[in-house]
Amino acid sequence: MKKSVKLKITLWITGLVALLTVVLVSMALFISNYVATETIMERMEYVVRGNIKHIQATDTTPVIDEEFLYYQNGISTLVYSRNGSLLAGQLPVNFKTAADFENGIIRTVESGDNKFIVLDMWLPYNLETGFWIRGISDVPDMDYLARYLLMVSAITLPVFTLLAALGSWLIIRKSFRPLDRINATAKAINEAKDLSGRINLTEGDDEFSYLADNFDDMLSRLESSFEAEKQFTADASHELRTPVAVIKSACEYGRKYDETAEEHAETLAVIGRQADKMSALINQLLSMTRMEQGTEKFTFEQLNLSEIVKEFCAEADWEKYNIKVFCDEKVAVKADKALLQRLLYNLVENAVKYGREDGEISVSVTEKGNSAVLTVKDEGEGIPAEHIEKIWNRFYQADPSRNNDSSGAGLGLSIVQQIARLHGGFMTVESTVGKGSAFSLHLPLIRE
Ligand code: ADP
Repeated sequence: MKKSVKLKITLWITGLVALLTVVLVSMALFISNYVATETIMERMEYVVRGNIKHIQATDTTPVIDEEFLYYQNGISTLVYSRNGSLLAGQLPVNFKTAADFENGIIRTVESGDNKFIVLDMWLPYNLETGFWIRGISDVPDMDYLARYLLMVSAITLPVFTLLAALGSWLIIRKSFRPLDRINATAKAINEAKDLSGRINLTEGDDEFSYLADNFDDMLSRLESSFEAEKQFTADASHELRTPVAVIKSACEYGRKYDETAEEHAETLAVIGRQADKMSALINQLLSMTRMEQGTEKFTFEQLNLSEIVKEFCAEADWEKYNIKVFCDEKVAVKADKALLQRLLYNLVENAVKYGREDGEISVSVTEKGNSAVLTVKDEGEGIPAEHIEKIWNRFYQADPSRNNDSSGAGLGLSIVQQIARLHGGFMTVESTVGKGSAFSLHLPLIRE
C-alpha cells in the first residue's frame, strides 16, 4: 500500500512537470513565431507604403527619387511594369518564382525550399497604365529558434523532471515516515503480543505526527486497561482461591479428626462462613461487571435522599450500632433506589468495620450549593495519607490483616465510586489518622 501511494504521487507530480515543460516550450515556439511574422508584416507595409511616396508614375517609366529605399531591414522593394517585367530593384537571391501580383495583400510565397513574405501595391498612372511595387522579405528563420528552444528543453526537461521526481519523492518519503513507523509498531505489537511498543515520534508537526501521537495515547490507554483487566482477573482468582482452600482443608480436617456432633457443627460453620464470603465476593464481582457493561437495568427516578437514608438506618441490622442520623427535610435527587441502598450499605459497613468500638457513626444528608451531599462519618483509625488515593481501586485494602474474617475483599469502595459516577456524581473522603474518616457522596440536586 505505502509503496503505491508514494509512487503514485511522485509519478503524478513528475508527469505533470514534464507535460508542463513540453507545453511551455511549444507555446514559446508558437508565440515567438507568430510575433516575428507579425513584426515583419508590419514592417513590410511601412517600408512599401513609404517607398510609394518616392516614386512617380508616368505613361512610360516611373520616376524614382533618391530617397527610395531598395533594401531596408531585410525588405527588398522592387518596381515592375504592368505586365510583370522588373524595372528597378534587386530580387533576393533565392526568390526564383514569378508570383502573380495581388494588390495590397500580404502573403507568404514559396520559392523552392524558401518562403518569402510578399506585398504588392498597384501604382496607377491612368486607367490603363501603372506600375507594381513589390516588397519581398525572408520569413524569419524560425528553424533556428526552434532548434534553440529544442536544445534548451532537451536540457531543462530531464533536469526539471528529475528535480520534480527527486523533490517530491523526498518530501513524500519524509512525510510518510510516521506512517511507516505506525505500521512497524502495529506489526511489532501484533507479532510480539506486547502492548508496550510506542511510535515515539518526537519530530514533526503535521497530520501524520498528530496521528502518531494519538496512536501512542491510544496504546497507553489500551495497555493500562489491559493491565488492569489482567490484575483484576488475578486478584479475583486469588480472592476466590483463599476461601476455597479453607473449605478444602476444613473438609479434610473434619473427615479425619472430627468425632463429636459439636466438632462437625463447628467445621460446617467454618465452611458456611467461607461459602458466604465467596458468595458475597461473586455477587460483588457480578454487580460491578453488570454496571460496567450496562447490562443491569436501573430505574432513575426523583427520590428524597433523606428519606432513603432514614429508612436504611432504621433497619434492624444497624440497631446495635451507635448510628446518628442528621437529615435535611427534603433533598431531591435523581437516582436508582437499589443502587443508593447498596452504596449506603458499603459505606456504613466500612464505618462499622473500621470505626472505633462503641464509637459514634453519623450519617447526614444536606444541600450544598447545587449538590446533595450524603456523608457517612466514623470515629475509627482513619486512613494514612499514602493509602487515601488508592482505597477506590479494586481489591485495594490499606491493611488487609484487619479484614481477615469479614466478607470484604477491597471491592466495596470501588463499587461505591462506580455508583456515584453512574448518577453523575462523585465521592470524596476526609480522614484524620486516629480520629476517623468521613466519606461523602455528591449528587446533582434537583430543585423544584
Ligand atoms: P474492604 O472494606 O472490603 O477492604 P473497601 O473497598 O470497602 O474494601 O475499602 C478499601 C480499603 O479502604 C479498606 O480495606 C480500608 O483499608 C479502607 N477503608 C475503607 N473505609 C474505611 C473507613 N471508614 N475507615 C478507615 N479505613 C477505611
